[in-house]
Amino acid sequence: MSAQAAASFEPSPNNMEAFWMPFTANRQFKSKPRLFVSAENMHYTTIEGRKVLDATAGLWCCNAGHGRKKITEAVSKQIANLDYAPAFQMGHPAAFQLASRLAAMMPGDLDHVFFTNSGSESVDTALKMAIAYHRAKGQGTRQRLIGRERGYHGVGFGGISVGGIVSNRKVFGSLLNGVDHLPHTFNLKEQAFSRGQPAWGAHLADELERIVTLHDASNIAAVIVEPVAGSTGVLLPPQGYLQKLRQICDKHGILLIFDEVITGFGRLGKSFATEYFGVQPDIVTSAKGLTSGTIPMGCVWVRKGIYDAFMDSAAENMIELFHGYTYSAHPVACAAALATLDIYKDEDLFNRANELAPYWEEALHGLKGTKNVIDLRNLGMIGAIELEPIPGKPTARAFDAFLKCYEKGLLIRTTGDIIALSPPLIAEKSHIDQIFDILSGVLKTLD
Ligand code: PMP
Repeated sequence: MSAQAAASFEPSPNNMEAFWMPFTANRQFKSKPRLFVSAENMHYTTIEGRKVLDATAGLWCCNAGHGRKKITEAVSKQIANLDYAPAFQMGHPAAFQLASRLAAMMPGDLDHVFFTNSGSESVDTALKMAIAYHRAKGQGTRQRLIGRERGYHGVGFGGISVGGIVSNRKVFGSLLNGVDHLPHTFNLKEQAFSRGQPAWGAHLADELERIVTLHDASNIAAVIVEPVAGSTGVLLPPQGYLQKLRQICDKHGILLIFDEVITGFGRLGKSFATEYFGVQPDIVTSAKGLTSGTIPMGCVWVRKGIYDAFMDSAAENMIELFHGYTYSAHPVACAAALATLDIYKDEDLFNRANELAPYWEEALHGLKGTKNVIDLRNLGMIGAIELEPIPGKPTARAFDAFLKCYEKGLLIRTTGDIIALSPPLIAEKSHIDQIFDILSGVLKTLD
């Protein structure tokens, strides 16, 4: 909304009803709305004119901070020049440029990039590709998918089927057939207050062997996991866990998909979690940081062998994959992404995050001993504060913290009784100090 439009908008029952807000307590929100009207660098400004420090990079996406002129300029230039190009049977240069740059950022032979408009679409694309790949290789029985408890893979039917958040699944019917879930890797007793990756829990990857034994590898297409589960409260992979998953998938010819919608684009202090953990999956999904949250866009990387299988399977002149979106590789999104990648590179933001991570870790763990805090978790520029739930009132304590932080000028995100933090990668140490000053003050006031 422009400053002028914002000034003329007065929230009232008349203008707040029509918008059905996602993942939001609509009735509660509309009785006391929280509206942002502008954003710059590390701060949002509310409709009342208050500054709010962004400790969540929007929704884990604005890695380059807010109001970046370079992106604004690239986007407006692109709209003026080529506002849209048909996504099927036509192309435009920025799509090819962007795909090449993204392929070069990934280690190994994750050389081919498919464009989507969101993380959810990236996940459904990846799952469909995995199943169709095996078919193209003459192994059409490989259709089963394996996700994980407490996994979040967006809200498409594929994503909620492999995902493991009960509230996101339970009212939506029977979902996809043929899906199993690995156990999640979080154990408060064994892992509480560990810094970085916990030492306990790699053995949980062996559950994959059990699932393979149950169904036979010849029926299994892919395993999908978030390298670090973000939306369910920053659940870190135990040391050696992802490596074990890779070994078991290799042994049985199962594709390994990393959902890097949160962990991509510098969040862990490397380009991607794939690089951070030194584990190469077969397919990687992304979105969010790709355009630093400015324009909706997602993408999926696949290894050369997967792409080649599709290219080799269809006759010349035939479409190799019947899948795509009207807005796949939208020119404006491509322009935003190219400008975003320039910022990441020019400002060396991923290394910057890597250098800032120890300070972040220290500041976060400074909350140890605070009332109600039962765990602190961190990796790269991600953090989580787990609060003891109030008996009979799950989520209430963390949500109270969210409201109080907002009043004090700090944006945090909560999921269950967990506070999740992921500031833009342009954060200064002084911002980190401010985040934890406000948080520690607020935590002391909670029931
Ligand atoms: N996968 C993961 C790991 C995510 O964190 C998210 C969003 N938080 C998604 C998928 C879905 O992305 P979107 O909301 O853009 O559809």
